[in-house]
Amino acid sequence: MELRKMSLLALSAVLTVGCSTIESHQQAEIAANENEKAIRKEAVEVQLDSVKTPDEALRRLVEGNWRYAADSCLNPHHNRKRVAATAPQQQPFAAVIACSDSRVPVELLFDQGIGDLFVIRTAGNSVNDDVVMGSVDYAVEHLGVKAVVVLGHESCEGVTGAITETGRDDESKVDELLSVIRNDVKPYVGHKDSLDVAVRLNAKVQVDRILASKRVQKRVADGQLVVKAGYYNVHSGMVEF
Ligand SMILES: [Zn+2]
Repeated sequence: MELRKMSLLALSAVLTVGCSTIESHQQAEIAANENEKAIRKEAVEVQLDSVKTPDEALRRLVEGNWRYAADSCLNPHHNRKRVAATAPQQQPFAAVIACSDSRVPVELLFDQGIGDLFVIRTAGNSVNDDVVMGSVDYAVEHLGVKAVVVLGHESCEGVTGAITETGRDDESKVDELLSVIRNDVKPYVGHKDSLDVAVRLNAKVQVDRILASKRVQKRVADGQLVVKAGYYNVHSGMVEF
């Protein structure tokens, strides 16, 4: 009986040592991952501060979106230090015109932080409005953004309403909004199955509208700006340009 008790004690000691070895391995692995993540984050923060060209701006957006879709966000520029650094003035590297849809959180899906993006959101991401277009011009002319992206998205209810609802209530501001979008996706009105192509066309029409500005054209010709349409997939989290 005494012998059995001693064997059990010995086994329990071995298990305890084994468990603590596994635990310390796991802790070391977690610490190594955290360290690696901190190094990558620091590198991204430095890169974000040095965006000088349209190509770099687009690369930052693409890389940030890959991180987001792969569930490995670094959340750069999310701290009090960045709040203090950007308080005196902003210098975002890109402007994004996106839908107000709650599934399209712009900074999150590009894995960017405070002061990185100038974001304009309206239902259906239309720029056919002086206030919206004025905001785009402000980002280009006064903030010197290197990229302007119009981001349409899968399952957009604004574009769905525009291609499916044909009635009009003059008192409704929603109908007014839908009729503005409808004008831009005319070939697909009445074709609910064509929602995806209508969303892409809508984004492209807005890009053309932005590019109609002589000042924008000059910056693009001088290599200081790129204007692109994008499509966000609400299932995969990926953005296609
Ligand atoms: Zn939408």
